[in-house]
Amino acid sequence: MKTLKEKSTPGRTGVMPPQQTVDTQENIPQRFLRKNMFLPELSETDVVRHYTALSRLNYGVDTGFYPLGSCTMKYNPKINEDIARMEGFTSSHPLSPQDNCQGSLEVMYELQEMLAEITGMDAFTLQPSAGAHGELTGIMIVKAYYKDRGEERKKIIVPDSSHGTNPATAGYCGYEVAVIKSDEEGDVDLGELKAAMSEDVACLMLTNPNTLGLFDKNICEITKIVHGKGGLVYYDGANMNAIVGKARPGDMGYDIVHINLHKTFSTPHGGGGPGSGPVGVKKHLRDYLPSPIVSKNGEKYSLDYNLPHSIGQVRAFYGSFGVILRAYAYILALGAQGLEDVSEQAVLNANYLKEKLKEFFDLPFDRVCMHEFVLSGRRQAHMNGVHTLNIAKRLLDYGVHAPTIYFPMIVEEAIMIEPTETESKTTLDEFIEAMKKIATECNETPDIVKSAPHNTPVKKLDDTLAARKPSLTWNMTR
Ligand SMILES: *Cc1c(COP(=O)(O)O)cnc(C)c1O
Repeated sequence: MKTLKEKSTPGRTGVMPPQQTVDTQENIPQRFLRKNMFLPELSETDVVRHYTALSRLNYGVDTGFYPLGSCTMKYNPKINEDIARMEGFTSSHPLSPQDNCQGSLEVMYELQEMLAEITGMDAFTLQPSAGAHGELTGIMIVKAYYKDRGEERKKIIVPDSSHGTNPATAGYCGYEVAVIKSDEEGDVDLGELKAAMSEDVACLMLTNPNTLGLFDKNICEITKIVHGKGGLVYYDGANMNAIVGKARPGDMGYDIVHINLHKTFSTPHGGGGPGSGPVGVKKHLRDYLPSPIVSKNGEKYSLDYNLPHSIGQVRAFYGSFGVILRAYAYILALGAQGLEDVSEQAVLNANYLKEKLKEFFDLPFDRVCMHEFVLSGRRQAHMNGVHTLNIAKRLLDYGVHAPTIYFPMIVEEAIMIEPTETESKTTLDEFIEAMKKIATECNETPDIVKSAPHNTPVKKLDDTLAARKPSLTWNMTR
């Protein structure tokens, strides 16, 4: 497709700006005057057609199935968008007097309370901007906690299935990262954990269900082992969609959690827009939370800066307010029963796909999964020379977004599938059909899969060239 610059025709115009009345040469300092500025010259029709055509090249949750594992690409109800755009919220200023924005403070306070109830924690901050930012906030709290107690702990433990942001956060905060192996069933190996656990360990970072989509049934034993040596346990809540309304990290013994509002609580994500990663803690860590948090006295809401050991603010103002509003509306709309239905349906959908697909692809951990599961393309790689990357690209030809691939790293040729609760059986069956066709193609016409995609606006890319020599600027010679 041509760019606007390429479509430009000298003299063509879509708007008629008013006659210039200011002498730019005289009134604007020379250094601010632009030279050689090229603006495309187009009619309104040209522009409308250009952007409409571009929008049709897009793929998103609103156009089709998006089984991207670990990302919870569920459908986001449009009513949440209306609520996030209500004028009373959009026109309120973060620095306006607290008496003038009681409604906004109430929304934040209520969301803190609802998240505490859902996770079994005692207090929440809504400040962090995403999951990774929540992890940073959580580990800064861990650090401040031990500093106060005069303990110098140097290590953080993560399992080998952990999301990259876990070890990255620990390392960024100055901790030494100790990686422990998973056992044969994909759970934390208790022997490994006991051996790694000492009074030098500040924290274990663990998501449950883990990135294999498996619920670690030893979780209470695990948190006990860490607490036994005075350590803290951090819950990476990115997989909350599997257990929301059903089980609570607080009850499993976790001390700190983050939740990805943009995953579990329905905010469009993946396009670079704002996210939100609220952090919850048990009582003994409340005073370390970033300040302010929102509190309530009688009928009045206020920003509470009185957190004696606070790690300070972790971003401007109070959090991604638009995302907070969407999550609030979503939770209220579903209610307690609705949230339970979310996790039940998400788990049912994932198990349905897993059972249907394990005939065509290897399933390294063959047990009941939670909201997602991990297949392996190793059979196709060894027998047909077709790799997981090729299979993912071929799916695009069948009109499906590719699943997550090559993660978690402990599964060879990993294909990680998360259908979410918002997909119908019809859609799941269409996906199964596509995967089945691709498995057959791997055997019969492997070259078609290896050279995919064929039906997309952009065909197979040279990944290596793109990584080594990225073209990041406008190239006039194109
Ligand atoms: C998505 C995810 C994260 C990071 O969350 P962001 O909101 O993308 O920063 C961390 N851990 C797991 C398991 C995830 O799936």
